[in-house]
Amino acid sequence: MRISIWSTVVSMFLGASSFAAERPNILFIFTDDHASHAMSCYGSKINETPNLDRIADEGMLFRNCFCTNSICGPSRAVIQTGKYSHKNGFYMNGDQFDGTQQTFPKLLQAAGYQTAVIGKWHLGEHMPPQGYSYSDVLVGQGPYYNPPMLRDVDGSGDQERIKRTGYTTDIITDLALEWLKSGRDESRPFMLMYQHKAPHREWAPGPDHLTMYDDVDIPEPDNLFDDYATRGRAAREQDMTIATTMTPRDLKLVPPPYLNEEQLEVWNAAYGPKNRAFEKANLEGDDLVRWKYQRYIKDYLRCIASVDDNVGRVLDYLDETGLADNTVVIYSSDQGFYLGDHGWFDKRFMYEESYRMPLLIKWPGVTEPGSVNTDLVSNVDFAETFLDIAGVDIPGDMQGASLVPLLRGETPDDWRKSHYYQYYEFLNDRRTAHMVRRHYGVRTARYKLIHFYNIDEWELYDLASDPREMRNLYGEPQYQDLIQDLKAEIVRLQEELEVPDDAGSVEPNPPSLKIR
Ligand code: CA
Repeated sequence: MRISIWSTVVSMFLGASSFAAERPNILFIFTDDHASHAMSCYGSKINETPNLDRIADEGMLFRNCFCTNSICGPSRAVIQTGKYSHKNGFYMNGDQFDGTQQTFPKLLQAAGYQTAVIGKWHLGEHMPPQGYSYSDVLVGQGPYYNPPMLRDVDGSGDQERIKRTGYTTDIITDLALEWLKSGRDESRPFMLMYQHKAPHREWAPGPDHLTMYDDVDIPEPDNLFDDYATRGRAAREQDMTIATTMTPRDLKLVPPPYLNEEQLEVWNAAYGPKNRAFEKANLEGDDLVRWKYQRYIKDYLRCIASVDDNVGRVLDYLDETGLADNTVVIYSSDQGFYLGDHGWFDKRFMYEESYRMPLLIKWPGVTEPGSVNTDLVSNVDFAETFLDIAGVDIPGDMQGASLVPLLRGETPDDWRKSHYYQYYEFLNDRRTAHMVRRHYGVRTARYKLIHFYNIDEWELYDLASDPREMRNLYGEPQYQDLIQDLKAEIVRLQEELEVPDDAGSVEPNPPSLKIR
């Protein structure tokens, strides 16, 4: 009898503890502006990312993950809430995220998860991150070296400001590892958002990578000298070209202002000789653009090399401690980026390079190693996916869908066949960053229809025959039936997603979103 009671107690205890153990940990690794065409697992022609590739090799690579609004803060707000910008209220950079609203970390926390965010937050400093047991985040964009950070050790909202010395990508990783080693409550599963500033503009490499690629030429994209023929005013009138928009600081012709004396010395030893050679060459015209491309892309890839090294440190730690067995590891970035494509850097447009997000997910025992998914998925799906992984009920007002069936290799028959996009950051009478016109659009497996609604210009692309989106088919007669179908699909999606007619408008008389 006594033995039987004891065994019941033991089995209850083991039962409870094995339930906790069964719920997987979630490690969300996130970068800023990392385009998938700068990852070797996506077929990059310009760099190698061996550690990110480990996640793809051990898990699933999503070929068609798209953001709903291709810019930093808004993408983060979508991920927090599982809702489009017009529902979570964060339309453009400079907005302040309403942290009192429902978010997936809050729901995980309520379900017993220990939640943490370390690194870039970029949803405003007006309130500390909410829904986290621990946060240690950059202030705003955060510099590449010696970042001031805000730490809240218990989720109370009291933040301590700490300025750290070193390279930010390394520091964020050190802090994430420190939290994994000694910050965790081992009786509970965790969800850690480990989020880098890199490889955001101005692409300042770390001390270990300042001369990487010095002796090689990086291949140029085939449309570096795009003339925007067949495209409309939006593509022609933007302010994000490698040729004209980049500043001396972007191009490292002047050093970053935040380096200390020792860092500056290392920096100048690397860039000084390169800059002197550039001055001596006296380049003009296309040759100058080609030089700027090389300078830009090498710095961008150097920043990624540092991210890759650091992700390797974290993956090693998970492997060595055995945590890897029950941890879902996700890699993504808030949007893609132009790597000289169309002559550009930056993002914002619904064209493929900035609309597409990298997405790798490894879930031991669930995702088949080395598998590839081509369904249309989105950052609006992330919150629901994380809740589903944790076995937490998904609220009805979230607007995405859980990727868990896809991770199991079983795409539901009713999975989305089209994806809705909307970008807002253009203020009619004020100069806004990069001057990309507001637009919305729809993408299907094969086609994309975009409406620059303030100027009522349309663009249609056949992604099968024109994956680089160089030929706008909108005016061509043979596509008129298709265009009507895609317009009807936009109307359907705007209704389904409850997009208001004046979504994100700051003008007194907003141009109508509605299709005329
Ligand atoms: Ca970004």
